[in-house]
Amino acid sequence: MPIQGDPLYWLIVGPAILIMLIAQWRMQATFRKWGDVPNSVDLEGNQIAARLLNAFNMPEVTVQGIRGELTDNYNPMSNVLSLSQSTVREESVAAMAVVAHEVGHAQQDAQNSLLMRIRSGIVPLVHFGSQLGPLVFIAGLAAGIGWLTWIGIALFGTAFLFALVTLPVEINASNRAMEMLEQTNMLASQRERRGARAVLTAAAWTYVAGMLNALFQVFYFISLALRGQRRGDGPN
Ligand SMILES: [Zn+2]
Repeated sequence: MPIQGDPLYWLIVGPAILIMLIAQWRMQATFRKWGDVPNSVDLEGNQIAARLLNAFNMPEVTVQGIRGELTDNYNPMSNVLSLSQSTVREESVAAMAVVAHEVGHAQQDAQNSLLMRIRSGIVPLVHFGSQLGPLVFIAGLAAGIGWLTWIGIALFGTAFLFALVTLPVEINASNRAMEMLEQTNMLASQRERRGARAVLTAAAWTYVAGMLNALFQVFYFISLALRGQRRGDGPN
C-alpha cells in the first residue's frame, strides 16, 4: 500500500500535518518567549513543584529530573512527576506554567478524576488497536473483504479516540495549574498571569492538532476502503 506516494493521502492528511507543525512551532516560540522572563517568586521548576505538592497535600508524589526538552510528565502508576531540562532548574514563567500543569495531572490522579481514569483505561485498547488495525485493514483490502477493512479502520480509530479523550484531560490540568498558582500567590502580576496562560494555551493547541491529525488519518483510510469497494463492485 504505497501511502506516501498517494496524492490523496497528502490532500487529506497534509493539512493536518501542517497544522501540527504550526502548533508545535507556536508552542516552542511561546515557551522560548516566556522562558526568558523570570518568575517573580524566584523559584526553579523543582521548587515550584515541591511548593504546589505541599500546598495541595500530595505527599505521595515524588519529583525527578529527566532528559530532553519539554518531556515533562506525570506518571499515575508510580506517582512520579518528571521534570525536563527545560523546567527543572529554570526560574521562568514558562517553567512555572509547565510544572504547575504537571502538578495538575498529579491532582487529577489524587482526586481520582473520571476523565483521567477513562484515558488510562483505554490505553491497552489503543495499543491493541493501533498495532492490529493496519494489518487487519490491509488484509481486508487485499482479500476484498469489506467488513474486515472496516474493522481495521475501527481498530486504528482508537488512536483518534485516545486523542479525543486526552484533550479535556489536558485542558483540565491547565485550568488546575492556573488555579493552584493563583491560590499560592505565585502569579504576582497581570503580565505573569498572561504569560503562564499563553504557554498553557499554546500547549493545548498541540493536542488539538494531534487530535485532528488522528482524525484525518482515519478519513484517509475510509477513503481507501471506499475506493477498494468501488473497484470490487465494478463489472467483472
Ligand atoms: Zn498534560
